[in-house]
Amino acid sequence: MSAADKFQQAVADRHQYAQEWKKRTGGKVVGYLCTYVPEEIFYAAGMLPVRIIGSHEPESVTSPYVFGMFCSYCRDCLAQGLQGRYDYLDGVSTAHCCVHSYQTFDSWKRHIPAEYFYYVSMPQLIKSRGAQRSMLSEIEVLKERVETDLGLSISSPQVEQAMKVYDRNRSLMRRVYELRRLDNPPITGAQCMNMVIASQIMDKQEHSQLVEELLKDLEAHSPKRETGVRLMVAGHTDSVDVISVIEGLGTTVVADDLCFGSRYFWNTTPDDNDLFVAMARRYLERPPCPMKDLHGVRLRPRYLLEMAKDFGVQGAILIRQQFCDPHEYDMPAVKRMLEENGIPSIDLEQDITIPLGQLRTRVEAHLELVQQEIA
Ligand code: SF4
Ligand code: SF4
Repeated sequence: MSAADKFQQAVADRHQYAQEWKKRTGGKVVGYLCTYVPEEIFYAAGMLPVRIIGSHEPESVTSPYVFGMFCSYCRDCLAQGLQGRYDYLDGVSTAHCCVHSYQTFDSWKRHIPAEYFYYVSMPQLIKSRGAQRSMLSEIEVLKERVETDLGLSISSPQVEQAMKVYDRNRSLMRRVYELRRLDNPPITGAQCMNMVIASQIMDKQEHSQLVEELLKDLEAHSPKRETGVRLMVAGHTDSVDVISVIEGLGTTVVADDLCFGSRYFWNTTPDDNDLFVAMARRYLERPPCPMKDLHGVRLRPRYLLEMAKDFGVQGAILIRQQFCDPHEYDMPAVKRMLEENGIPSIDLEQDITIPLGQLRTRVEAHLELVQQEIA
């Protein structure tokens, strides 16, 4: 089995992987919703952090707990918990994002059994004067709480080692992403997304070994498919199927800005004499999600334009979960910035279940527009 296939398999078997890890190591597993959770703290304590993701199946269990107009990602994740699919989790964590994610976490805490709950009150204005101090204090509190809960002490060398393991994993995935700049990228967007989701659910060292294997595979074989139209996908989707449908229409997704994609790993930890300050800075300085980009001069539109130019993108697909205000807030400015620079875009909304036929029709129409633009 190729490394790319192993990532796909790991994503499909994610619950089994975590349960086997637990049996094998005797360690604790902590699920998290938002990628602003400083996972390195859990890793340093010997825990396995796993991202909670939905199943895209119809659900009827969340309505007593969260309002029906909460985002489809949150409802889908909560449904997984209420249906017992994450009953192996010892702890659940999230970082401050939006009301939907807060209430999802709160409902999990009230209605789904787990031993530990960790809410990280990540600052919203990441460029404000107090942001670093606030993030640093959240990291220190998280560390103390994990130490108390598990009855252990997390040493600085353990934290440093965890940060190294995470940074190595980030750098390796970035090397894979850099190959997408090529005229004929050796890897598809769907394969990249499987790699990133696998990183969010596997032990990082094991995952890094597989990324090295993938890099060797990519160097040894030339691409077997036509690249077609070069697209960027930005926003929020946790569905590899969506990317596969888009790539089944004569395109390649050569760049993404997703928290199940590049936003998760793009930057490594900056140099700093203080370990925890370095960790705080890494989370504050990463490519921001819309909820963290609420400053007067917003960073995301320009950042996405630069990414599009760097990766030779010809068209963009801006995707968001149904009822997600933060990503809706982001759309007009991003769309305008891309279109003013000759990159046509469409916005797509994703519900829990994904009608792939409808999606295909909308993307096809957009591709006609892109073809006219680049003709
Ligand atoms: S969109 Fe960003 S801030 Fe919001 S839950 Fe996802 S990772 Fe966290
Ligand atoms: S930012 Fe959007 S997708 Fe993420 S949790 Fe909030 S509402 Fe859901």
